[in-house]
Amino acid sequence: MNKKLTKKFAPGHATCAGCGIPTIVRNVLNATDDPVVVINATGCLEVTSTLHPYTAWKVPYIHNAFENAGATASGVETAYRILKERKN
Ligand code: SF4
Repeated sequence: MNKKLTKKFAPGHATCAGCGIPTIVRNVLNATDDPVVVINATGCLEVTSTLHPYTAWKVPYIHNAFENAGATASGVETAYRILKERKN
């Protein structure tokens, strides 16, 4: 198993046996550069990876309602851009 993948999405989630979601998530996260923030609308991925008090996420993670994930992602991107400008 690729260690880089397990650093961002850990095993121990509660997806059904044989579910493709963990493989997809790990491949997507492996294609990202840091910093990365995951914005996730309600669904199997959210329910199975964030069983309180545990989480499979090893990166910043925001759970959203269905209708506002895009708006949240836009806000995160804007905040990142502003913080980056202030740092320079
Ligand atoms: S998508 Fe949801 S219901 Fe379907 S196999 Fe994965 S965890 Fe199970």
